[in-house]
Amino acid sequence: MNAPILIVGGGIAGLATALAAAPTPVLLLTRAREGSDVASTLAQGGIAAPVGDGDTAQAHAHDTCVAGSQHNNPAAVERLTGDAVAAVEWLQHQGVAFDRDPGGALQLGREGGHDRARIVHAGGDATGAKVMQALVTAARRAPHIHRCAGLDVTGLLLRDGHACGVHALDAYGHAERIHGCAVVLATGGIGGLFARTSNPADADGNGLALALAAGAALRDLEFVQFHPTALAVPGLHSLPLVTEALRGAGARLLDAEGRPLMDGVHPLADLAPRDVVARQVWQACREGGAWLDARGIGTTFPARFPTVFAACMQHDIDPRLQPIPVTPAAHFHMGGIAVDTDGRSSLPGLYAVGEAACNGVHGANRLASNSLLEGVVFGRRLGTLLGALPGTGARHGGCTLVRRGPSLDAIRIAGLRETMMQAMGPVRSGKALQAALRQYQAADGWQGELARTLLAAALRRTQSLGAHFLAD
Ligand SMILES: Cc1cc2nc3c(=O)[nH]c(=O)nc-3n(C[C@H](O)[C@H](O)[C@H](O)COP(=O)(O)OP(=O)(O)OC[C@H]3O[C@@H](n4cnc5c(N)ncnc54)[C@H](O)[C@@H]3O)c2cc1C
Repeated sequence: MNAPILIVGGGIAGLATALAAAPTPVLLLTRAREGSDVASTLAQGGIAAPVGDGDTAQAHAHDTCVAGSQHNNPAAVERLTGDAVAAVEWLQHQGVAFDRDPGGALQLGREGGHDRARIVHAGGDATGAKVMQALVTAARRAPHIHRCAGLDVTGLLLRDGHACGVHALDAYGHAERIHGCAVVLATGGIGGLFARTSNPADADGNGLALALAAGAALRDLEFVQFHPTALAVPGLHSLPLVTEALRGAGARLLDAEGRPLMDGVHPLADLAPRDVVARQVWQACREGGAWLDARGIGTTFPARFPTVFAACMQHDIDPRLQPIPVTPAAHFHMGGIAVDTDGRSSLPGLYAVGEAACNGVHGANRLASNSLLEGVVFGRRLGTLLGALPGTGARHGGCTLVRRGPSLDAIRIAGLRETMMQAMGPVRSGKALQAALRQYQAADGWQGELARTLLAAALRRTQSLGAHFLAD
């Protein structure tokens, strides 16, 4: 019997890869139940694609590279935007019902950085949940996909310098070795390494730690996007997002004295680019706090922004009557496991896709709504490539196990998250980065080693670029 393709991660990227590999057998390994506690399910805005009249892949590519400060890999951008329309069609074929206007045309939203409306969405602000529902259902129906939930992959098996399997622990701590013809890391982002994040805590960069332990190359690690307005709830690590669309609808950012925060900072004021707003909110938080005053939206708030309304009310904040406390939060990692545009890492047999991977498509900063698209476009491409590989039987002997290493305890993880937030947050300085690096120079635990690698990458880039902003 042929060995299966092993895919670690059941978000949009892992599922797109698995579905496209048919009929080659796939074993899909996930920590959580499929669709639960993954960043893909939380996505609100939608998916960018040049589907509107007069829109083109070239225009979408142009906006992607402007957002990425021209640090993007042009070949990856061409593939992303060139395959975007086909990706939306494929999602519809998998059962995603995108929102349509009364005439039947796809409804298109516009977000910061796009020169026109080009964002398709489903269920209003529930795009991620709707897409994941359809893909999980499609994967359950696909006879070539076998699923194994509740497994934490903690190591990679190597034979003659090739990845040939994984080491995983189940919920009871039982270890097992699983062999495959290829290993795909689709483990998501790194927001969980920061004190405040919009990601699930599970998105902790452990896929990068696995690749690092096995000697695979990582790239662009210094580029972390911060969302300017997460709901500032004391004591919470994973924070609900307060969507940018509220500012589009007239909400204004205020400082602790109630003064407008963005006046005079940027010609677009509250609608300035995400990183500009994140830096202002970061500074205001250090000086007493930042609030988003959305009272002007009034009684229509619950109907227009049901997700934000529910999150606020859950924390006893009525956004119709009082300003919403906000804070920047780690949102998206542009860097990751270095791959080519087919998803191949520098280690033969090891592939990566989605937010865990970096083929350079986002450059130094991601354009809004390009990451779900990335998962589908590059996932489908990688799945097709792996599905066409000649089958090999599973060989169980002669493997070496490389583990990502022990985890830090809860207290030290909390300390590390705070250090990362201060040193690698929206505003950085060489001094703070050096101090943090010294602190983690000899740190044990895989999170310590990964933090060290991220900090060293940030220190190597001595000039501001995109999301990497140096105050000194
Ligand atoms: C609140 C929020 C809103 C967003 N809105 C948008 C948007 O509107 N449009 C857009 O394009 N992007 C958006 N993004 C970004 C986008 O959602 C993510 O970049 C994308 O979903 C990442 O998909 P993924 O498949 O790479 O990873 P994920 O969806 O995070 O999936 C990772 C998977 O890996 C598994 N995993 C991790 N480690 C292990 C391990 N060791 N063993 C086993 N399994 C493991 C997890 O359990 C999970 O199944 C948003 C992100 C957030 C957090």
